Amino acid sequence: MPKKRSSGGRSKGGKGRSGTVQCSFCGAQVPRDKAKRITRYTSLVDSRLFKELRQQGAQIARTRTTKYLCISCAVHRGVVKVRSKDERKTRPRRRR
Ligand SMILES: [Zn+2]
Repeated sequence: MPKKRSSGGRSKGGKGRSGTVQCSFCGAQVPRDKAKRITRYTSLVDSRLFKELRQQGAQIARTRTTKYLCISCAVHRGVVKVRSKDERKTRPRRRR
């Protein structure tokens, strides 16, 4: 059977099952290698105060928040996009 994507939409390669993670938005159980992981640095101080303090040269601690998204939530939120048939076969370019 022809494959829609060379990776099958996952990144597990030849290994068997992988553990599941819960989608941060809808709560679905998704395989860890299929879920989209987004890491953001957030500060506990609110943004306007943060700007002001940074101008004065203050070091403000940031916390790293990692979220796992199921594919439907990732598409809905614009993390990944639906790609054309030819484009699907290639690896997406990494954004910097
Ligand atoms: Zn979801």
